[in-house]
Amino acid sequence: MPRNMTRANIAAFYEILSQVKPAPDTELTYHDPYTLLIAVTLSAQATDVGVNKATAKLFPVADTPWKMVALGEEKLGEHIRTIGLWRNKAKNVIKLSQMLIDEHGGVVPQDRDELQKLPGVGRKTANVVCNVAFGQPTIAVDTHIFRVSNRTGLARGKDVLAVEQRLEKVTPSEYLLHAHHWLILHGRYICKAMGDPECWRCPVRDLCLYAPKTPEGGFPKAKKTGAAQTPKKKKSMRKKPPLKSVGKTKAKESPA
Ligand code: SF4
Repeated sequence: MPRNMTRANIAAFYEILSQVKPAPDTELTYHDPYTLLIAVTLSAQATDVGVNKATAKLFPVADTPWKMVALGEEKLGEHIRTIGLWRNKAKNVIKLSQMLIDEHGGVVPQDRDELQKLPGVGRKTANVVCNVAFGQPTIAVDTHIFRVSNRTGLARGKDVLAVEQRLEKVTPSEYLLHAHHWLILHGRYICKAMGDPECWRCPVRDLCLYAPKTPEGGFPKAKKTGAAQTPKKKKSMRKKPPLKSVGKTKAKESPA
């Protein structure tokens, strides 16, 4: 059974992350709750950099629900075509903007359940909006936070909801507001998903329960032993067809 971090070490973990980045913020560009909601909605399965590139041209023409609805799905699609799942996202952004006008007077609600009723807005997006736009101590568990929480022993859980609930339980209240960003940034830049985590330069390595810790320069590549090598294919004993029969069979073209 994997161990969990102790309460004292969890507090120390956050204390160190808070010293590294005392006032963390989202890396998405926004200027009010509505533009934040749109940016977060667009960011699912996309990078913040990619979203910022698209919204840099979108927000000057549509930064309110009314302007977005007036822009329409097709024109919005042209702005966000570089972002993954753009067709669905364009549909949802128009629908949610219309719903904001119809049911909330064009104002983004501060309540997580109300936010989750908007098309394309899941629990994670609602948590980000509550946290970043309205200063609520919510923790939106994305892929980085899920990995960091499980890997380090900070808050283990089999799915994002379990990790979110565990984090809310074990995170000291004074760190709850910024926990979301500290953990995302830590996962994005140090405790990475691709390749090995960069433990040699990690400020919380003495508290983290993950082992073995990656040394500087990475782990030495394992040498292939004879047994581990893939056995060479035996030469086929089948005779090749005589040349004259080749022309009769049309070779399949490989797709371009
Ligand atoms: S020591 Fe390594 S595994 Fe642990 S938090 Fe740091 S980077 Fe991640």
